Amino acid sequence: MMVNFINKIDLLIFMSILSKRSGDISSYSVNEENKKLKETLFALKKELNTLKEPPLVVCDLIKIFNDKGIVRLSNGNSFFVNISPGLIDKVKLGDSVLAEQKSLTIIDKIGASKKFEVENFVIMEKPKVRWSSIGGLKSQIKEIYEVVELPMKNPELFEKVGIEPPRGILLYGPSGTGKTILAKAVAASTNSTFIQIVGSELVQKFIGEGAKLVRDIFKLAREKAPSIIFIDEVDSIASERVDIGTSGEREVQRTFMQLLNEIDGFKPLDNVKIIGATNRIDVLDGAILRPGRLDRLIHVPLPDDEGRKEIFKVHTQNMNLESVDFRQVASLTNSFSGAEIKSVCTEAGYFAIREKRVDVGMKDFLLAVDKVRQGDISGGASKASMFG
Ligand code: ATP
Repeated sequence: MMVNFINKIDLLIFMSILSKRSGDISSYSVNEENKKLKETLFALKKELNTLKEPPLVVCDLIKIFNDKGIVRLSNGNSFFVNISPGLIDKVKLGDSVLAEQKSLTIIDKIGASKKFEVENFVIMEKPKVRWSSIGGLKSQIKEIYEVVELPMKNPELFEKVGIEPPRGILLYGPSGTGKTILAKAVAASTNSTFIQIVGSELVQKFIGEGAKLVRDIFKLAREKAPSIIFIDEVDSIASERVDIGTSGEREVQRTFMQLLNEIDGFKPLDNVKIIGATNRIDVLDGAILRPGRLDRLIHVPLPDDEGRKEIFKVHTQNMNLESVDFRQVASLTNSFSGAEIKSVCTEAGYFAIREKRVDVGMKDFLLAVDKVRQGDISGGASKASMFG
């Protein structure tokens, strides 16, 4: 590529000399031609210089001493380095900066702030889910209220009594049973910022950046407090590893270590809570479940008969129903998850629409149950069956 550029530049210089010597070309057109060639030559030289430039190292500025600073690289190593003179007044603590490879002198600052970066990688919202839109799961809701909502709303109560509420909880159970909506509902009832990350994405999409992102996510959560960090598929980061030989595994391990550090680093009454979710509790590394971490385990199972009836009630409250016996429908949906029950309701509505009706009856529900049971509709059936 570079050879190509050099050849192009040589050719342009040669043509420019040729055009200067050619006597039969008017001086006006020669001058014009010359000007154009010079411009092209300049642009090509600039591009060539860019191609020759070595890559710069991205790091975080963690301390500043006048014209020097301490930077931390993504592998965790820190260095005492120079800050180039033009940049001294422009950088501040916590900035992502660019450093030269050899001397690690800071020569530029990344335009977008770190906060902006991390906000691009997580889902951040103020959910509106109400407790009443969750069917069943009464004991889970009560426990989440006690360990998450109460300490966030009444921290002084815990100080007076002299106990520390858990920093985080772990919701575990089959797919589609309501772990995410439980977390969203407690975020809504405490008016917290809900920051959702998916474990598998953290370690697969952002190779080399996982640990840094974990650090930034916790920083963001503190800035936006009260907040709830919801880590879905936490097993992708925190599963027990027998062999950490490969670089991918080491990366996951680094991300996991950072997660543990962050959980250990904040105070239980900091107004930031962590909710982990998994449907593979069997593979979790015990370190994440130790006291002071995600030490409150809450099982979110498939709904029983009563639970299914309540979930049907939630998802049909806006439907135009005609004599549907939900006790019977519930008894026919044994081993369905909440997500599958929601699919049954939607499908029943479709059966009515197909027959040009607006009222949904028992027949529609029975057909819908069959359809979802056969797996034509995705509601997490296959994943749910993993738990029997
Ligand atoms: P996964 O493990 O696959 O992430 P999950 O346990 O987090 O699943 P949710 O995402 O909370 O499951 O549930 C999916 C959808 O199923 C919800 O948006 C909700 O509409 C419905 N649902 C699940 N459980 C319930 C429930 N108990 N009450 C009402 N709706 C429910």
